[in-house]
Amino acid sequence: MKFEKVSPPESGEKIKYIDGELKVPENPIIPYFEGDGIGKDVVPAAIMVLNEAARLTGREISWFKVYAGEDAFKIYGNYLPDDTINAIREYRVALKGPLTTPVGGGFRSLNVTIRQILDLYANVRPIYYLKGVPSPLKHPEKVDMVIFRENTEDVYSGIEWKEGSEEALKVIRFLADEFGVNIRKDSGIGIKPISEFATKRLVKMAIKYAIENNRESVTIVHKGNIMKYTEGAFRDWGYEVAREEFGDKTITETELWENYDGKAEGKIVIKDRIADNMFQQILTRTDEYDVLAMPNLNGDYMSDAAAAMVGGLGIAPGSNIGDGMGVFEPIHGSAPKYTGQNKVNPTAEILTGALMFEYLGWKDASEMIKKAVERTIQSGTVTYDLHRHIGGNLVGTKEFAEEVVRNLG
Ligand code: NAP
Repeated sequence: MKFEKVSPPESGEKIKYIDGELKVPENPIIPYFEGDGIGKDVVPAAIMVLNEAARLTGREISWFKVYAGEDAFKIYGNYLPDDTINAIREYRVALKGPLTTPVGGGFRSLNVTIRQILDLYANVRPIYYLKGVPSPLKHPEKVDMVIFRENTEDVYSGIEWKEGSEEALKVIRFLADEFGVNIRKDSGIGIKPISEFATKRLVKMAIKYAIENNRESVTIVHKGNIMKYTEGAFRDWGYEVAREEFGDKTITETELWENYDGKAEGKIVIKDRIADNMFQQILTRTDEYDVLAMPNLNGDYMSDAAAAMVGGLGIAPGSNIGDGMGVFEPIHGSAPKYTGQNKVNPTAEILTGALMFEYLGWKDASEMIKKAVERTIQSGTVTYDLHRHIGGNLVGTKEFAEEVVRNLG
């Protein structure tokens, strides 16, 4: 593969995808970009931790620096150059920092564009509690969920027309003429597609994850009582794929009580909840929820709300996963007002790296990082965001990461 303005490192090997499985060498080449704003602070800090955890577990990463966002615009005249997309496609697993959505830059959002071009159809966010992190919950230690949010459809598919535009008026006229549906003429119009194909592959990934990680249940979250043919269908297709592809490993909640006397006996329980109810249940009955699968918009809201339960944006890792490909990013954005101040919390980016290690099959290195972060925070060494709530020894981004490195192993 030829790149226009970047070169892959000379050492290291490619991650391959063979027969539906990732083949990860001990010295993989991994593309990364810092992105905008505080990406410049948190990505180098995270890489310092990742390099050391890899070294301590007998591995080495050859980082391949690529560009997106403002940096890319300066070099390529383009916020998302082909070099960057091609590098991710070729090397399969990448680490990214946050990207500011450029105003008038020709993209709705660079993040959404990356997910769509590479068909990274699942946004996967683990939500778990690290001891010592301030939380608004009485029992934050009960939180241990993984959210699988569909990444390509729903109202995020970008099909919408401005109020008063020719297109919006045409759609309104069409609906009136063909279906007798009345929509006010001064309406903007958005389309919410939810397909069987995209739903089933997402729910399938969630169930597969639950099986491989000895989880207890997968909850399908939807608003099917109101939106029957989109959200309701999401629920029905979710149950269908569980039955069709994992019939011997899953049971429904009804079967659990009717046939199994409430004891799942090693099977994954598939249940569903209506989204609004789910928002209160993750607070009131936290430990009943484990792996969650949901459409795009519900997933966006739910994952930020769930992240807030265990310490907020500075802590929460995330990823975008497709078939044999993953781009790892923290939940937070570029927080431009803190750029270059060595101030913000690098934990979210560090734990994003730990999540990437888990995806590579490096569970030992991943656990080592999580424990080191926990140890660091418990010892009272914190950045400003946690210091605001619990005080302690206030440090900058780099110093926090250095302390995590000291706590590894
Ligand atoms: P944001 O960048 O996530 O920042 C919102 C607030 O969250 C910050 O002001 C700060 O709160 C806190 N915060 C975020 N990251 C933190 C960290 N690492 N450590 C400590 N505190 C942290 O959200 P935004 O201001 O709405 O968005 C800014 C830009 O980022 C926008 O252009 C948006 O489109 C983009 N964005 C990108 C992504 C992505 O790349 N995936 C995701 C979300 C947003 P305090 O001010 O209270 O300290």
